[in-house]
Amino acid sequence: MYHHVKKLMYTVRVDRPDPAFGNMLLEQFGGANGELAAAMQYSVQGLNCEDPERKDLLMDIGTEELSHLEIVGTLARMHLKPMKTMRAAAEVDPLIAIAGGGGVNLFNSVGDAWTADYLKITGELDVDLRSNIAAEARAKIVYERLINFTDDPGTIDTLQFLMTREITHMKAFTAALESMGKPAFSIGRIPPTPGLVDQFFNDSTGIGDCGEPDVRGPWNEGGDWELVTAPAFKEYADEQAGTRSQQARTTDGHAKAGNGSSKSSRN
Ligand code: MN
Ligand code: MN
Repeated sequence: MYHHVKKLMYTVRVDRPDPAFGNMLLEQFGGANGELAAAMQYSVQGLNCEDPERKDLLMDIGTEELSHLEIVGTLARMHLKPMKTMRAAAEVDPLIAIAGGGGVNLFNSVGDAWTADYLKITGELDVDLRSNIAAEARAKIVYERLINFTDDPGTIDTLQFLMTREITHMKAFTAALESMGKPAFSIGRIPPTPGLVDQFFNDSTGIGDCGEPDVRGPWNEGGDWELVTAPAFKEYADEQAGTRSQQARTTDGHAKAGNGSSKSSRN
């Protein structure tokens, strides 16, 4: 059940309206990482959630995001307001000025319509929580960039509040995921194939003029990692001209065809 309270979650103040900035703010109103997307993603996940504790979390945060939508919509509207009457302001975004009357609508900063395609809802709670942690990180960085593109103190104050809440949500989703007690790389019920799961394929090779150097790091060395060198070349290693040994060439200089590709490992 939803109930609207005629009060903003955070008081919004704009000292000097800036229609171009108002247009940028729409990214957080009707954009991919915006407040409506967050509200719908968490609320619909919550609707599907059969874990009553984390369902409560999803509905709490999903509902707060609707309050954020109201805040960012109010802020954007204050910045867009000159578009209602001033030709120069209207030229900043004719779609908003002519079709929308200088108000907010569910479009992103370049006028693309909001879409449910923005939402990540898998029906697998731990997978959804990972999506939500990433969504909060994206929302945070978009707010940070918006803050960097305005000098208006009232606007910065509001955006700082919204940006901070995204980190709060990120903390809550992370704690909820950890409290499920699942091993970090256990997703679903079918285990990955032993051995294969620990192989890191060095699929991008070359040095100097031929490309960037190969790098070793904790993502491909140490622990259970096994580095597999250039798997794409493996079956041709001694068979194709120009790749490996001189013996691989036939007498007329042509490379012999590789013979590994026609075999099926399932037979
Ligand atoms: Mn938010
Ligand atoms: Mn959030």
